[in-house]
Amino acid sequence: MIDTDRMTETFLTLVRIDSPSFEEREIAEHLLTELRTLGGDVIMDDSGAAVGGNAGNIFSRFAGAGRGPAVLLSAHMDTVSPGRGVRPVRDGQRIRSDGTTILGADDKSGIAIILEVLRAFRERKLPHPPIEVVFTVCEEPGLMGAKSLHLARLSAQDGLVLDSGPASSLFIRGPAADRLEVTVRGRAAHAGVCPERGMSAIQVAADAIARMRLGRLDHETTANIGLIEGGTAVNIVPDRVTVRGEARSHDEEKLAAQSAHMVRCFHDAAAARSIRAGQELVQAEIESTITRDYNRMRLGEGAPVVQWVLEAARQAKAMIRCESTGGGCDANVFNSHGMRIANLGTGMREIHTTGEYLLLEEFFQTGRVVFSMLQQAVSR
Ligand SMILES: [Zn+2]
Repeated sequence: MIDTDRMTETFLTLVRIDSPSFEEREIAEHLLTELRTLGGDVIMDDSGAAVGGNAGNIFSRFAGAGRGPAVLLSAHMDTVSPGRGVRPVRDGQRIRSDGTTILGADDKSGIAIILEVLRAFRERKLPHPPIEVVFTVCEEPGLMGAKSLHLARLSAQDGLVLDSGPASSLFIRGPAADRLEVTVRGRAAHAGVCPERGMSAIQVAADAIARMRLGRLDHETTANIGLIEGGTAVNIVPDRVTVRGEARSHDEEKLAAQSAHMVRCFHDAAAARSIRAGQELVQAEIESTITRDYNRMRLGEGAPVVQWVLEAARQAKAMIRCESTGGGCDANVFNSHGMRIANLGTGMREIHTTGEYLLLEEFFQTGRVVFSMLQQAVSR
């Protein structure tokens, strides 16, 4: 039903349009035109201003002749760097970049599938349920576009985000995530003349991190310290350092315990390094904030979208399994508002590297499955 050559051409066109996070305007304009040509009602929302970028999220609705619940199809427009001037190369059954940039299959493979499915329904005049398309901005820096969506614009409760790797994976469970930012304030001193009057913020932070449980903590919990910045010169005892990290878990209690543990390590390290300067007890000060990055995704296998996809897979003789992921995506945001959105793979691999590629057979399979899944959703 879908035209795989045309879908591939659409993909190649999309990856040649630069769309780093916060600079999605050019691809947004292109997609607004495409969606209008396909007969959709289209708007771009004002989230560009909210996230500090030059374009907003795109909403489009295709009423369709069929009845049934509206179905959401979503993908994100932004890419990570190095992502400017992508030159896609066809290499047998895969498409890769020329090795100097990412490819941008994350997530333009998802966008290409959605456009092709809409085209296929339109040219064959086949009934479909109301389809609501959302193309978001700024997914990569932290689901920023999805977080600023006005969900009241949507009537769909069920649907798919197309933003992961293997076409055989339907992700229905994902962790909640907290972000952690801790500033350690010590005391500056000349490192050669009077180091004993200083309190090294870097040393306190290092001690804290050395005490910390990090990495894969159990089958559903992970933690990481990802950024550290501080100090002013090699001959000054550093009086300030900021450390940023995250914790994720499928279990809320474990997540709360891990985030608290990470903060406690800083307080313990500060207490362990207090010094006496004359009458004064000097101890590093700790300022910490924990913010919820996104909530967990937890769909039951009986959720409508899961049933539609599994039935579509049976008909397409494709093997698709329900799985858990350790990652976060726009589906986490949709689902935290009570929607039931799963994340289906598109064939992208080695994402966020210059070795990124798209497996065409998997890309085509997901195109067929999404098309057929909409036929499952329509009431006849
Ligand atoms: Zn992505």
